[in-house]
Amino acid sequence: MREIHHLINGRSVAGTSGNTADIFNPNTGEVQAKVALASKSELDKAIEAAEAAFPAWSAVNPQRRARIMFEFKNLLEKHMDELAELLSLEHGKVIADSRGDVQRGLEVVEFACGIPHVQKGEYTNAAGPGIDVYSMRQPLGVCAGITPFNFPAMIPMWMFAMAIAAGNTFILKPSEKDPSVPMRLGELFLEAGAPEGVLNVVNGDKVAVDAILDHPSVKAVSFVGSSDIAQYIYARGTANGKRVQAMGGAKNHGIILPDANMDQAVKDIVGAAYGSAGERCMALPVVVPVGQKTADEFIERISDEVAKLKVGISTDKDAHYGPVVTAAHKAKVEDYIRIGQEEGADLLIDGRGFSLQGYEDGFFVGPSLFDNVKPGMKTYDEEIFGPVLQVVRAETLEEAARLPSDHQYGNGVAIFTRNGRAARDFAASVNVGMVGVNVPIPVPVSYHSFGGWKRSAFGDTNQYGTEGARFWTKVKTVTQRWPEGDVGDQAFIIPTMN
Ligand code: NAD
Repeated sequence: MREIHHLINGRSVAGTSGNTADIFNPNTGEVQAKVALASKSELDKAIEAAEAAFPAWSAVNPQRRARIMFEFKNLLEKHMDELAELLSLEHGKVIADSRGDVQRGLEVVEFACGIPHVQKGEYTNAAGPGIDVYSMRQPLGVCAGITPFNFPAMIPMWMFAMAIAAGNTFILKPSEKDPSVPMRLGELFLEAGAPEGVLNVVNGDKVAVDAILDHPSVKAVSFVGSSDIAQYIYARGTANGKRVQAMGGAKNHGIILPDANMDQAVKDIVGAAYGSAGERCMALPVVVPVGQKTADEFIERISDEVAKLKVGISTDKDAHYGPVVTAAHKAKVEDYIRIGQEEGADLLIDGRGFSLQGYEDGFFVGPSLFDNVKPGMKTYDEEIFGPVLQVVRAETLEEAARLPSDHQYGNGVAIFTRNGRAARDFAASVNVGMVGVNVPIPVPVSYHSFGGWKRSAFGDTNQYGTEGARFWTKVKTVTQRWPEGDVGDQAFIIPTMN
């Protein structure tokens, strides 16, 4: 059985804790590998390696750091097919989605290639007599990233590409459900020329996470995962004096106004709701058509599209989506479908009990569609994270807009309309962090930044882009003067410089 180790100080290191987790092939349900789960002392060793690497790495000039990023980007492109296949076989998303996963991470690496510009400080000449003021953005030290299963390439790269380009050294603790791609990223980063100890990948569970949160040498932690864990990470990390950003779950709404281009909306929503088996934090699992006529038309059209969806194994080029990640997750999604029915929503299409010929033990869930879902229902209030679309009917735009604004999550939202004024007002006023106008999955490009509101994110600073660069650096401001001769009559007067 293949064993997945750790990558510490530039070397593959076998686990010594004796604890492992099974890695499944979600297409077949078989265990395909075992991953080592690190103990606290193994984590401590990785942090020591990162600490030892920090002085030299932070002293490397930004252009040289950028060159390693350029080389890493080249290697990602060269290994795209290999990474996508590895990802699909562990996660279960289809190859096209896996390529997208790698590509969106690669784009953050591209942004990180611009670090010499992004990390520049500010300068004021002659802020006072003979006095100049300048600021610099310095790296923090050893930083860490704790990532979820659903984007095992993109999310690690959101974090370590920005942190390391800025001069930090890094501990990546990937999801224990699909760690092979993060490990491969670590190897490619070394191949790109990163010195040993700059990026360490340590596999593990809560034990490893707690060791990161409690270690005094770790200065900043970035987390992406479910909201309860995000809140825990934020509370424990900040209580230990660390800088923390912790992104959580989501329940993104798509509002369809009566004037929307229904063809486009339906096509977009079928991909956004069911693509990647709904296991995306920017999926669109709730649709709010405005007016009964819009709702009836949407239900009719989406039902036709759902009937055409092909669920298949993750390497099937014709499949729209593959299995969910584990048997436990399949059971959880199917449980939500049962609860939804019990709560009184209308289950129009039931994806439970789906079986793929030849892959009867795979973790497949067929597409489900609910109508007449209402706030207050458990299945509306909570994140399902599966191929389940829920329709909530509203009479007016105001009523529809209140739904995402009042929801506990505030990651993304979309509006479908031809009315520019309505879209503009909606985008400005909705209580959600990322908005799409006729765009179903509004994940910002790498030179903007990613972050939700409310229980979708704890902490103030977003992922990647210039916000990311801020998160991974601290500002130092220098006020300097070079007085000539005797300073007696040039005494520095505080607080004014007049
Ligand atoms: P998860 O919260 O179960 O796991 C995320 C990470 O936390 C993993 O590395 C895991 O090992 C660790 N972890 C799990 N339980 C822990 C505990 N008790 N203590 C300490 N650490 C623990 O999330 P997941 O199932 O891997 O990912 C899916 C979730 O992530 C969904 O809720 C999804 O919405 C969310 N997500 C959010 C974003 C975003 O940017 N907002 C992006 C992707 C995924």
